[in-house]
Amino acid sequence: MRTPIIAGNWKLNQNPEETTAFVEAIKDKLPASSKVESVIAAPAVDLPALLAAAKGSELKTAAENAYFEDKGAFTGETSPLVLSQMGINYVVIGHSERRDYFHETDEDINKKAHALFRNNLTPIICCGESLETREAGKETEWVVGQIKAALKDLTAEQVSQSVIAYEPIWAIGTGKTASSEQAQEMCKAIRDAVSDLYNEETAANVRIQYGGSVKPENVKELMAKPDIDGGLVGGASLEPESFLALVNYQ
Ligand code: PGA
Repeated sequence: MRTPIIAGNWKLNQNPEETTAFVEAIKDKLPASSKVESVIAAPAVDLPALLAAAKGSELKTAAENAYFEDKGAFTGETSPLVLSQMGINYVVIGHSERRDYFHETDEDINKKAHALFRNNLTPIICCGESLETREAGKETEWVVGQIKAALKDLTAEQVSQSVIAYEPIWAIGTGKTASSEQAQEMCKAIRDAVSDLYNEETAANVRIQYGGSVKPENVKELMAKPDIDGGLVGGASLEPESFLALVNYQ
């Protein structure tokens, strides 16, 4: 009943010309979005090119970040209001790179989630533990804590529509994927936490992605797990053939 969602996260890669060429190469080969949703999250400067190229195709669009205010004296930020006006579908918030390098807090991420819903945008809310936290056996407590903080004061309906991405930091860009069992275990823990915070129906609706060295070779095994509804993919989303292999994993 949950539509799988595979999202490429380009990070600080690709320029507008490369964005257009990428979308042209994939747009006629994507699965129907009712079967698998295909999403590209691109740098803000590439979004006009992404939207123009994706128009009329099955490809959905995402920003990699947005601020929690719509307008004002916030030099260098990206407005969620404008992303919505442009026709962007999703916004990634709370990626571990944003948390680590740009010092985003759980509170910022919660404010961003509210700002996105205020503007009819859907958040892809990232969470995930460091290797140190996992080795200390505190990964579930850590991730559930991040999720509780990110969802604070959202309604059950908003959480039902949200996408959560579980990305263990030690698996991002390292080639070291969490085992499908480890990924499933945490995605289930997140779903159980949503059930405790809201109700079973909300937990059954929320889509949970796994991210961290997802590639064409492991996507099928990950997607076969009952609580994994998609992938958030960095490195393997940068080449058209690889992205197509991911979204056409079925
Ligand atoms: P990766 O990145 O697929 O390159 O590990 C995932 C992410 O950071 O979203």
